[in-house]
Amino acid sequence: METTTPIIELPRIVTQRRTVPNEFPIIEPTSYRIALIGEAPGEDEENHRRPFVGKSGSFLTTVLREVGIDRLQVFLGNICQVRPPGNRIEAFSWGGPEIQEGLKCLDEDLKKFKPNVCVLLGNTPLKAARTDSVKITDWRGSLFECDNVISPFFGRKCISALHPAFVLREFSGFPLLKFDLKRARDEGYSPQLLLPQRELITNADASTLCDLIDTWPVGRRCSVDIEGGLGGWPCVSLSAQPTRAYTIPWMRFDESEHQRVLRAFARLMERRDVPKVLQNSLYDSFVLAYGFGIHVRNVAEDTMLKGWEIYCELPKALGVQASIWTREPYYKFQRKADDPEVLYTYCARDSAVTMEVCQNQDNVLNGASLKHYRTNVEMLNPLLYMELRGIKYDTENVNKELESTKKEIATVGEELCQLAGTELRGAKGSLSAKRLSAALYDTGKYPKQYKKEQGRKTDKLTTDIEALLTLRKKFNDNFLNLVIKHRHLEGIIETLNIKCDPDGRVRCGYNVVGTETGRLTCYTSPTGAGANLQTITKKLRNNYRADTDYDLCQCDLAGADGWTVAARLTSLGDRTMLDDLLYGLKIAKVIVLLYDMGAEINELCRESLLNLMRVVDGDDWRYFSCKRVQHGTNYDMGIPTLCTQVMKDSFKLSGEPIYMSHSEGRAFQDSYKYRYRVSLYHAWGAAKIVADGTLTSAVGHTRVFFGRRFGMGVHDTTKELLAHEPQLITTYATNTAMLNLWNDRDNRRPDGSLIIEPLHQVHDALLVQWPTVMREWARAKMHSYFNNTVEVAGVKFTIPFEGRYGRSWGELTESI
Ligand code: URA
Repeated sequence: METTTPIIELPRIVTQRRTVPNEFPIIEPTSYRIALIGEAPGEDEENHRRPFVGKSGSFLTTVLREVGIDRLQVFLGNICQVRPPGNRIEAFSWGGPEIQEGLKCLDEDLKKFKPNVCVLLGNTPLKAARTDSVKITDWRGSLFECDNVISPFFGRKCISALHPAFVLREFSGFPLLKFDLKRARDEGYSPQLLLPQRELITNADASTLCDLIDTWPVGRRCSVDIEGGLGGWPCVSLSAQPTRAYTIPWMRFDESEHQRVLRAFARLMERRDVPKVLQNSLYDSFVLAYGFGIHVRNVAEDTMLKGWEIYCELPKALGVQASIWTREPYYKFQRKADDPEVLYTYCARDSAVTMEVCQNQDNVLNGASLKHYRTNVEMLNPLLYMELRGIKYDTENVNKELESTKKEIATVGEELCQLAGTELRGAKGSLSAKRLSAALYDTGKYPKQYKKEQGRKTDKLTTDIEALLTLRKKFNDNFLNLVIKHRHLEGIIETLNIKCDPDGRVRCGYNVVGTETGRLTCYTSPTGAGANLQTITKKLRNNYRADTDYDLCQCDLAGADGWTVAARLTSLGDRTMLDDLLYGLKIAKVIVLLYDMGAEINELCRESLLNLMRVVDGDDWRYFSCKRVQHGTNYDMGIPTLCTQVMKDSFKLSGEPIYMSHSEGRAFQDSYKYRYRVSLYHAWGAAKIVADGTLTSAVGHTRVFFGRRFGMGVHDTTKELLAHEPQLITTYATNTAMLNLWNDRDNRRPDGSLIIEPLHQVHDALLVQWPTVMREWARAKMHSYFNNTVEVAGVKFTIPFEGRYGRSWGELTESI
């Protein structure tokens, strides 16, 4: 009987398509053997019949050059050799001829080329390599040997990376692509796959664990990771070195073993002579302290803060850090495993990986950056204190306000729906985006508004607040007014719905390096209480109260970010802004005066300006707007963005938007630039980006800018640089005041408790409380805590502060 080999019958359409063959190296590689595999050709590739010659290909070539890979010496191929309709690979079925034929061809070509490493660019080649279904955003950076027998990559060493076309759309992926291609280059020298070997011990008995814990040597770093949270804590792991970690699986122990190990664990955590290493330590420290009464002492290293210190633009999650600082392949999916044994192994791996990340970061971090990082680590203590302490919440008043706001919103909602002739509210009482969109753009025929993403207009319809305010500016009718009023009341209700804990206190969680510029951020506490308490508007702050017999006080750095710009301008040859600030002038008020009275203002002496400045009302819309003009112009913001920011910020604050026209914005900006030579600052920033793309700020932190440094997009990177140092310095100044308070021995009672207690922090403000009987002493102390000199570009200054105190955060009636 004749045997037949199954032949895939290709439909004619495929043979008619122009195939783009895989490309072998044009120059025979001498050292590395790298195959880069994409998805499928696009239009340019089809026209040239060569892979990666279009936009993403030329971008890939640039990145390859930057990491030391010569495009001419690598194999470039695709999973599919024909261009999919609309460049959408999903248009081809995986089992269909286009992809299957492409895989076959790739298999043959790779057999000929014999790469040491295959770089899988994007989801499609990753899918071809694996038997499970995984995402490239999780797996990028991971090394593995392909065990999929039907894959062209079978038995080969692979590394996955983001596709360059994706990175061109989502430029934040650029550093990750660069890291992964660097790793690919190093892997290209040999086919051998070396992965970290770790002994992950999950079955140690109670006595072994107690022995390990009780004999932990003085000074040896201990990496700790807990799984779960306040609702349940299935295990914790400990590691002294990246090659070994122990999990303590609580459920495995009987009651007495549990108690024994738990006590030993608590003792170890509380030992000050054992430095602890954690990733995002505030979370673990909070859960252990609040939920279980275990206080982690001597948190010496936090890999999240350390990673930020080195590459502040990279994502901070441990999974990403592991892909940058270790060779550990992606393992984070194991956290959700049903099998407890998988979870225990996962937990052990977490602490071992954290230790390795920490050690590898140690090799890079030194000098001034290390010092800056240490300051951030020191900040963990007062931040944990605030997270645990919470702020007294006036629930009675909150409920009253909530009730009356709910009544008000119901009336507005009824009227609105009557006008619309249909129900616009969703199940929770908020306006439904879908219904509102139909009412506005289909029925109402208002001009369609489109969502902006990263400053660019998309094709998605939106009813976000910017869209509504923009429409209302044009049409100012009853319907839009009611919609906006409803949205405003929804915001108030959301704030009033913030929950407190059973002890009547609102808590929140913090991140010392929440933003790329190192600003502190704030979010809901692991208890479920609180929210981002940095955005509570003034009108709703009266619900956050001082404890009985305490005063609550807020100190704000005045004109904070402006000081850094003034110092930079001084070093660039224009000290007008610095002298104005030193004289006590408010820059935004000077802009209002210039706008009102014209250029003669520049002829006046500062004493006269100071007197004139007093006539500018603090509640004047122009002062509000000019504060945004000042900072926005510093950061080279365009007029339309400035106007939008003024509109949105004013709405958030009061429910009533300020519509600064483009011509007013331009006039304010021109006035500002007329007095201060801000263009010098802009030129300096642009030159810095082109020169080396880094900025070492006055407090020691160095930022590596991964954004575009040449051609299109360089302007966006420059803007980031211009905003970076001012925000970083302001945060540093606030943190310094906080640490002064925290470390002041006079501020401790004999039992070690604080007299002036920190309650909350915003990037340029500190909220504290002190016993009323200590008021005079505390006021003087606050002045001393804020009396700090900063030096930027060789210019020394002390940012002044404004402090007020009272019964609650919303009733700060007295000045300090
Ligand atoms: N994108 C790919 O995946 N392959 C190419 O050849 C070009 C762009």
